Amino acid sequence: MLRTARRLTQALAHGPLVRADLRWPSVAGADLLERSALETVSHGKHLLTRLDDGRTLHTHLRMEGTWQVRRTQQPPQPWRQHTVRVVLATARWTCAGISLGMVDLVPTSREHTLIGHLGPDLMADDVDVATAAANLRAQGDRPVGEALLDQRVAAGIGTIYTSETLWLLRLNPWQPAREIADPEEVIATAARIMRRSADAPSITATGDPRPGRDANAYGREHQPCRRCGSAIRQGRLGTPPTDRVTYWCATCQER
Ligand SMILES: [Zn+2]
Repeated sequence: MLRTARRLTQALAHGPLVRADLRWPSVAGADLLERSALETVSHGKHLLTRLDDGRTLHTHLRMEGTWQVRRTQQPPQPWRQHTVRVVLATARWTCAGISLGMVDLVPTSREHTLIGHLGPDLMADDVDVATAAANLRAQGDRPVGEALLDQRVAAGIGTIYTSETLWLLRLNPWQPAREIADPEEVIATAARIMRRSADAPSITATGDPRPGRDANAYGREHQPCRRCGSAIRQGRLGTPPTDRVTYWCATCQER
């Protein structure tokens, strides 16, 4: 998502919008022509495109959504997909949001009402580590691995970075969140490896992390721990049907 946000920011940074189609019932009549898109930021899976008139275009990719960027052509070339929901174009670049799960237009000052139920975004440029750490500690007896996967604690951590973070810090995934001595270190570590991964070329086109050969724990069941040589184990966090997979070393992440 961070990558998508960066691509949109770069593509739309060159002058006012020469085309702005919103094919979504609640915002279909909105006029964005001649406005400039200042930046697009991601928050979890939300994308917030801030305009120079104090409004924010809020889009969400859900499961299938994607943004495509092309050179702007004259006359404008239609997109083949009939599921295009948003087209934003400057004289140079045209961005199409396809199969989006949500399109809203809100005052920029009200962005928090869209994303207020999410914890701090660990992919943000200025990560709010203190708030996320406080959220984590407040999870009490809940296993730390399960708490880290809760988007209300911190947005953006998935199963990969939960496993990797806990391995790096030698924390057992089932240790109660309130027992974590340094929750800020947990959050800062997760944010660091997430950012490093987003900046690395081994990321899929959608911006999702791909568990590569670099993983220490994730996807390495039965393989030797890179620290102690014990076999990495696989387990489930949470309760079905919302349980999630995790990987850990029972020796150096012992409770
Ligand atoms: Zn180990």
